[in-house]
Amino acid sequence: MNKNSSNIMALAPNTSNKRETVCIFGTGDFGRALGHKLIQSGYPVVYGSRSTQISNLIPKDAEVLGHAEAAQKAAIIIIAIQRQHYNFLTPLAEVLRGKVLVDISNNLKLNQYPESNAEYLSQLLPGSKVVKAFNTVSAWALQSGTLDASRQVFVCGDDVEAKQMVMNIVRALGLTPLDKGTLLAAQEIENYPLQLFPMWKFPIFLSFGLAAFFFFYCLVLDIIYTYIYEKNNFSFFIAITIPNRVFPVMALILLALVYLPGIFAAIIQLSRGTKYRRFPDWLDKWMLCRKQLGLIALAFASLHVVFTLVTPLRAFASWRTSKGIISQALNNKTEPLNHTNAWLSDSYLALGILGYFLFVLLGITSLPSVSNNVNWREFRFVQSKLGYLALILCTAHTLVYGGKWFLSPSAYKWYLPNIYILSLIVPCAVLVVKFVLIFPCVDKPLTQIRQGWERNPKYSE
Ligand code: NAP
Repeated sequence: MNKNSSNIMALAPNTSNKRETVCIFGTGDFGRALGHKLIQSGYPVVYGSRSTQISNLIPKDAEVLGHAEAAQKAAIIIIAIQRQHYNFLTPLAEVLRGKVLVDISNNLKLNQYPESNAEYLSQLLPGSKVVKAFNTVSAWALQSGTLDASRQVFVCGDDVEAKQMVMNIVRALGLTPLDKGTLLAAQEIENYPLQLFPMWKFPIFLSFGLAAFFFFYCLVLDIIYTYIYEKNNFSFFIAITIPNRVFPVMALILLALVYLPGIFAAIIQLSRGTKYRRFPDWLDKWMLCRKQLGLIALAFASLHVVFTLVTPLRAFASWRTSKGIISQALNNKTEPLNHTNAWLSDSYLALGILGYFLFVLLGITSLPSVSNNVNWREFRFVQSKLGYLALILCTAHTLVYGGKWFLSPSAYKWYLPNIYILSLIVPCAVLVVKFVLIFPCVDKPLTQIRQGWERNPKYSE
C-alpha cells in the first residue's frame, strides 16, 4: 500500500517545473508554428499582434494581445517578424527593457545588410538582451514534425544568461542548441539557410564537366568512327555501352581526386619545411570537398555495377553470343578455353568486387551517424589506408580489363587513346607519388613537419 502511494507521488505533476510564459510577436507562419510547438512542450504562449482578433489558425490555448501588453507577460519575446518592420519596436523600448528578444529572422540574399538582423535589433533596443536562434528551422518542419535534418539550432548572443534561457527552450522543444558565441556570429548564422549545398558545388560541376567530356569522347570513338570506317551503326551504344564506359572512368578519376590534394599538401609541406604556412586557397577548398567527391565517385561506381549486371540481358549481347556459337558450329570447330583470358577475366571481376566493397565501406564511414561513433584513428584508418587500398584495387581492375590492348595500335582510333587509358593517368600518378612518400627517407621528415618541426624556425631561441 505504502509502496503504491509513493509511486503515485512520484508520478504526480511537479508544479515547480512549470514553464515560463513565452511571448511571440507576429502571428505569421513561423510565429504560429513555433507557438504550437511551445504549447505542446508545456509553455504558456502569448502573442503580440497588430490585431487582437482570434483566428482559427492561432493555437487554441494561446492568448493574443497588443504588443506592449503581451510583452509585459513574459521575460522572453520571440520576434517572428521580418527585419524591415523592426522599427515598430522602437516605441516599445521601455516595455522591452531587460527582456530577452529572440531574433529568428532570415534575409533574401547573402550579406544583404551591412550588419546582421540581430545586431540591428540590438542597436534599435540597446536596453534588451538580443539572442539569435531558430532561423535555420523552417515553419513547415516545426509544424509537420519532420525536424530530423534540422535538429540543430544555432544560438548566439552577448548575454550568457539570456542565451542559456533560449537554449533551455530549444532543448525543451526536443532540438539541440549549438552555442556559436556572441552576436558577432549572427551574420554567419543568418547566411546558413541561404547556402545551396555549398560543399557540393565544385564536385558536382566537376563531375558533370568530366562526364560530359568522356561521353562525347566515347561517342566520337565508338559510334562516329565505327560508322565512318566500318559502316556499322552502333548508335544504340548511347543507352548502355557508353554510359557503362563513362561511369567506371568517372568513379576511378574522382576517387583519385579525393587523394590527390593530400599528395599536393605533403609535397608543399616538404618543400616549405613547415606546416605553419597556409595552403593555397584552391587546395584548402579542394580538401574540404573530398567527402563529396568520394560520394559522387561511389554513385558512379554503383551505376557501373548495375549497368554491368544488366549487360547480358541486352539484345546485342545475346546476338554476339549466338553469333559466336553459330560460327563455331559452321566451322565444326570448338574454340579451346584460353586460360590467360580466363585468368584475366576472373581477376578483373574479383578486383572490381573487392574495390567496390571497400568503396561502399568508405561511403558508409563518411556518414555522420557512423563517423561520430569511431575515434579519429579508426576514421583515418578507414578513410586513408582502406581508401588507398580501394584506389589500388580499382586501378588494378581497370588495368587488368584493358591492359592487353592498351598497347595495340587498334586502340588508338584517330590517334586518340582509349578512354580507359585516360582514366588511369590520375590514379596511377597518385599511387606512384604516394609510394614515394611512404619511403622512410621521405616519410620521416614529413611526419616530423606534421608534428610541428620546422626546417627554418621563425622564432628560434
Ligand atoms: P509572415 O508569415 O510574413 O509573418 C510575419 C508577421 O509579422 C505577420 O503575420 C504580422 O503579424 C507581423 N507583421 C507584418 N508586418 C508588420 C508590421 N509592419 N509591423 C509589425 N508587425 C508586422 O512571416 P514568417 O514566415 O512567419 O516569418 C517571420 C520571421 O521568421 C521572418 O523574419 C523570417 O525570416 C523568419 N523565419 C521564417 C521561417 C519560415 O519557415 N517561415 C523560418 C525561419 C525564420 P501580426 O499580423 O500578428 O502583427
